[in-house]
Amino acid sequence: ATKRAGATARERAPAPETRLSSPTKIIFPDRGITKLQVAEYYRAVAPHLLAGIAGRPLSIIRCPSGAGKPCFFQKHHTAGLDVVRFVRLKEEAGINANYLVVDDLAGLMELVQFNALEFHPWGSHADTPDIADRIVFDLDPGPNVPFAEVKRSAQQVHDLLQQLGLQSFLRTTGGKGLHVVVPLNPGNRWPLVKQFAKGFAEALAGSEPDRYLATATLKLRPGKIFVDYLRNGRGATAVASYSLRARDGAPVAVPLAWRELAALKRGDAFDLDATVARLKKQRKDPWAGIDTIRQDLASLG
Ligand code: ATP
Ligand code: MN
Ligand code: MN
Repeated sequence: ATKRAGATARERAPAPETRLSSPTKIIFPDRGITKLQVAEYYRAVAPHLLAGIAGRPLSIIRCPSGAGKPCFFQKHHTAGLDVVRFVRLKEEAGINANYLVVDDLAGLMELVQFNALEFHPWGSHADTPDIADRIVFDLDPGPNVPFAEVKRSAQQVHDLLQQLGLQSFLRTTGGKGLHVVVPLNPGNRWPLVKQFAKGFAEALAGSEPDRYLATATLKLRPGKIFVDYLRNGRGATAVASYSLRARDGAPVAVPLAWRELAALKRGDAFDLDATVARLKKQRKDPWAGIDTIRQDLASLG
């Protein structure tokens, strides 16, 4: 089959959907969730998930034996993928590699057939890999940090960004922390984005050293929140909104409106059923406007 390297979604005829094998295989043992149910979840959220991953280099976490069993992180295109295309990009080491790119539902479902459970896009697009259009502040609580403190830190990051003239968006990770996402439009080159994110994190940690850490080598310390700015670099990823997590309970990374932060109980508050139910009754996208807001780092005052 053709690999469709370089072809855009528009040039291609819609691909037929991949047949799902082993639909009764249990993927989340604690919940008895099958591969078919995972596929149905991804079909239900596809337009929302694709909004955050389509056309971007994409890493996936594949769990061939389900969430409780060994999973692996995959960045590169591999044999057997017919619908999912790839983009050939320079790696840090200077060699080229074929990165996964999904454009549509058919590509998404092919990866689900390949036992992908989690989706992690770059903060840039495949055709402009050096131009970031998303900054992610990944707030990682160490042991013994109450979730209320993580919430307070997300609000603080939001408020400081707003003072700089930057609008930001909130996401649960399906794990322990929260993500604060800043859209850039037009985008900025990665070195500037990385410098900004590092400077922001270090300034925050410097202002409240008892609460925050911004040192990559220290990471998780009891009682402190690591402001992980390292998601912001060429080739770095963050989990996509509406991605499942390969963790107990089938949690999902869910975009929230800032006014929802107060009532949020945990980073893994939404599982797959809660996420689908939320989407059904949702009148307005909590991240409405993220693709049209015009703001960037070069034009900050
Ligand atoms: P949590 O809220 O529990 O921290 P998280 O998704 O933010 O959930 P992190 O461990 O903070 O988890 O990782 C942040 C992001 O960094 C991940 O979503 C993933 O995209 C990326 N990442 C994490 N581990 C790896 C890895 N081993 N290789 C490549 N990228 C990784
Ligand atoms: Mn995190
Ligand atoms: Mn992290």
